[in-house]
Amino acid sequence: MNKKELEKIKEKALKENIPIIMDDTLEVMEKYLITKKPQRILEIGTAVGYSAICFTEFLAEDGMIDTIERDIERVKEAKENIKRVGVEEKIHIYEGDAVEILPTLDEKYDVVFIDAAKGKYPFFLKESMRMLKSDGIIFADNILYKGYVMSDYNKHKQRTAVRNLREYIKEVSENPNLETEILEVGDGLAISKMKFS
Ligand code: SAH
Ligand code: MG
Repeated sequence: MNKKELEKIKEKALKENIPIIMDDTLEVMEKYLITKKPQRILEIGTAVGYSAICFTEFLAEDGMIDTIERDIERVKEAKENIKRVGVEEKIHIYEGDAVEILPTLDEKYDVVFIDAAKGKYPFFLKESMRMLKSDGIIFADNILYKGYVMSDYNKHKQRTAVRNLREYIKEVSENPNLETEILEVGDGLAISKMKFS
């Protein structure tokens, strides 16, 4: 892949305040991806393709990433970026709302990366679990949402998001099939591994 182009994509996204994955979050994920060598990754929330492009490095040979984005302008830019970096064979973008697209998918994924509407995280979890391989991992970004999720202040305008992020944490923690860690890297990262049973 063309790393120089990737760096340019990152700089532009940061300048335009597009919420791309933070460096420390990516670093943690990379540790898992290196050993996992996933065949298939599902990403919910493409934005301009930055994280998906980064993940391609860790795919198994012939591995693929499916990623979902509802913002048409971002889809357009993501496609251009993916071409520029030269990874268009490895990334497929589903254009539309993940709430509608996920129920139509029926694949098996080694890794899911949830990074879209925070109010929908419990739904994204349910759909991800349905498609997760028995040794799969689900990552959820922004799980601590600027610290709101762990604070008792819940009157701000983001309370629906906060409620749903808390619900997500509760569900992954209580699910006997999952082993979950919540890390304070970046904006908070939940890592849930499917337990072998
Ligand atoms: N994963 C990207 C950043 C994603 S930002 C990266 O790290 O590079 C979150 C994106 O999710 C935004 O572009 C937003 O438009 C998209 N999004 C939010 N809710 C969505 C939904 N319900 N369906 C599809 N895309 C959604
Ligand atoms: Mg994010």
